[in-house]
Amino acid sequence: MAVNAPSTELPPLIKESGQREVFCGLTSIVWLHRRMPDAFFLVVGSRTCAHLIQSAAGVMIFAEPRFGTAILGERDLAGLADANEELDRLVAQLLARRPEIRTLFLVGSCPSEVIKLDLARAAERLGAQHRGRVTVLNYSGSGIETTFTQGEDGALQALIPLMPMAPAAQAAQQLLIAGTLADGVEDRLISLFGKLGITNVATLPPRRSTELPGVGPGTKLLVAQPFLSGTARAWIDRGAQLIKAPYPLGVEGSRAWMAAAADAFGIAPAQVAAVLDPLVERGQRAIAPHRETLAGKRLFLLPDSQLEIPLARFLSRECGMELVEVGTPYLDRTLMAPELTLLPEGTQLSEGQHVENQLKRLEVQRPDLVVCGLGLANPLEAQGIATKWSIELVFSPIHGIDQAGDLAELIARPLRRRSSLSFT
Ligand code: SF4
Repeated sequence: MAVNAPSTELPPLIKESGQREVFCGLTSIVWLHRRMPDAFFLVVGSRTCAHLIQSAAGVMIFAEPRFGTAILGERDLAGLADANEELDRLVAQLLARRPEIRTLFLVGSCPSEVIKLDLARAAERLGAQHRGRVTVLNYSGSGIETTFTQGEDGALQALIPLMPMAPAAQAAQQLLIAGTLADGVEDRLISLFGKLGITNVATLPPRRSTELPGVGPGTKLLVAQPFLSGTARAWIDRGAQLIKAPYPLGVEGSRAWMAAAADAFGIAPAQVAAVLDPLVERGQRAIAPHRETLAGKRLFLLPDSQLEIPLARFLSRECGMELVEVGTPYLDRTLMAPELTLLPEGTQLSEGQHVENQLKRLEVQRPDLVVCGLGLANPLEAQGIATKWSIELVFSPIHGIDQAGDLAELIARPLRRRSSLSFT
């Protein structure tokens, strides 16, 4: 275990690496394919990869899970020429059958990495074969390289080179929101930005994979999801200006997130207050009944979704929870700086995962609630500790001031369930 200091007010960061209990980046296909119905995510993997997506997420994502099995089960693992031929054949069949596909993502997996199948070259080759019909991109969702939200970071980075360059004058007027949000939440946020006076708002991913916004020097980048480190860096490299703000979770974070964007566009704080403060008051009223359940309860967040730090900030500052430990799979100090300053003094952060050590600390601490991955929830519940699946938070519309009450309710639910069980 290595120890580094994240900031002067927080205790030393616990840095760990060991056994991980986190879904791989393939999982993000579940929300990305809903977001871009004209895109297709072809996992180049094994039957295990197919099962992960179909059963853990409860949906059928891609039509050809047998492809992966063909590579591993029927082909010589060293026979890359065969694997490439098989991939070309499968893609041709897929495109013939599905004329609506405009963007095809070849998604790498542990098996494709192990056999060193070069998907970047395959995407280039297939892109050339099907030019004009479909754009072919690739990224990795492998569990060796990614945790489940990092899959989205990979997919968005693959799209960035296709985004047209916007002229500087146009770019400077544009707000670009990064990260998949529920459509209804996104519409609401865009309409609020309009009321603030920001009317040129683009999003990545877009709702149609081919309608990519232009980016140029001075485009103002507002990150909605804290797990998009690579995407943010790639945009900054293209001249976008990162708006530094906490993430739009809870009333306080969401207001600060919108206010930071308004500030970047020179909008007066009085205008921000006029538009947002009525919502703030309503949001706080929505949180209040859940705060009664959450206040004083001890919370331990295991590293999983990368939403942990903003979530901990919301639950401590607005819901009165006591933070025992806040784990994150990866700590991006640039993207997380505004959040870290809002954490209560003395918050124990941990980065990376070593399940055994974390479970030992949990055993000593006996928190009231643990936010964790699916794999750890059942054993913890069996020990009498209430749990919340972090993956549920990624699938739920929790962003924005209007959703703060729902977010508090989602977190309070397992505690309420446990207390009602203990009285029956
Ligand atoms: Fe498992 Fe790796 Fe496939 Fe993910 S990519 S399902 S971790 S084999």
